[in-house]
Amino acid sequence: MYRIGLTGGIGSGKSTVSQLLAARGASVIDADALSRSLTQPGGKAMPAIAQAFGSRAVQADGAMDRAYMRQQVFQDVAKRRQLEQILHPLIGQATQAAAAAATGLYLVYDIPLLVESLARYRPIMDRICVVDCEETEQIARVQARSGLSVQAVTDIMSTQARRQQRLAAADDVIFNGAGITLAMLEERVQQVHEHWLQLSGQQKT
Ligand code: ATP
Repeated sequence: MYRIGLTGGIGSGKSTVSQLLAARGASVIDADALSRSLTQPGGKAMPAIAQAFGSRAVQADGAMDRAYMRQQVFQDVAKRRQLEQILHPLIGQATQAAAAAATGLYLVYDIPLLVESLARYRPIMDRICVVDCEETEQIARVQARSGLSVQAVTDIMSTQARRQQRLAAADDVIFNGAGITLAMLEERVQQVHEHWLQLSGQQKT
């Protein structure tokens, strides 16, 4: 199956684009959702997380304590690596299982931090598509959605790749910045959808 890696910074509109692609018949695999399911009560990552980070990392209901873990890994690179070493192989397995079960026109992997791990993802994707947005617009959208301060949003953005780095990795760019209405976004999504259908050797629907 033809594989598209879809990425974009926080608030760029990646989830909106995923939904528009799914509505056109793509199978979308959401890396964040898979990752979350691993750390829910009974999730496959929970025994290893409890062992590595202690019982404080596990809530009473058996889910990972996200607030605690965020605080643990935010400033500490070694701990972040440790958590990634637990999660990445399990995410890989879950992703492969989801891909094997997919029946759509092509596969879209929605991966927020794709560019940050480009060496891992580039070889397994046919195309990389970046949902692009000015950083000022990202801040405005995330603030409107979450009520976080500019500083808090900027802090999150500082852990992600910069706009130019993302664009440099892109085969296709969907611009969703200032001045782009949802109708305009939908039109652009239709274009890339048709392009991918052609590239993947399928007829335009
Ligand atoms: P995150 O990585 O933080 O989950 P995301 O990249 O998936 O973000 P979305 O959730 O799709 O981004 O979009 C962020 C917010 O901006 C949403 O509330 C969405 O409805 C809104 N939004 C996205 N695109 C547009 C647009 N072109 N015009 C207006 N609002 C938009």
